[in-house]
Amino acid sequence: MSHPITAHDPDCIFCKIIAKQIPSRIVYEDEEIFAFHDIHPWAPVHFLLIPKMHIPSMAQVGVEQSALLGRMMALVPQLALEQGCNPYPEGGYRMTTNTGREGGQEVQHLHFHIMGGPRPWLRG
Ligand code: AMP
Ligand code: ZN
Repeated sequence: MSHPITAHDPDCIFCKIIAKQIPSRIVYEDEEIFAFHDIHPWAPVHFLLIPKMHIPSMAQVGVEQSALLGRMMALVPQLALEQGCNPYPEGGYRMTTNTGREGGQEVQHLHFHIMGGPRPWLRG
């Protein structure tokens, strides 16, 4: 079974969130990138940063995606502070990407978790 990169997967919950067929609490949106609050937050701040293109996971990423991923990474410091993460180094945040079943990935659309805020956290 192949897992292609496509513009949109009609069966993908995150593609439906991007298309606003499923509501979300939006954190950020531009032509290529979308961010929204996780529905089950682990931490006082917990949002997901995703490409609008349906990339199933990090396993499909190659050099063709380096500009897109670079833009996503470059947004994290600004979005984290805007969403209430405290400044580095006393504050900060955790960024994680689960990949595949053994990596704990449940939604098959590439996403970066950004978690932060005062501890204790619910998990992690
Ligand atoms: P992962 O296990 O890394 O694939 O994480 C998937 C994440 O998506 C989990 O943290 C879920 O809470 C989150 N999630 C699933 N459905 C929604 C939704 N409709 N809105 C916001 N977050 C969601
Ligand atoms: Zn998708």
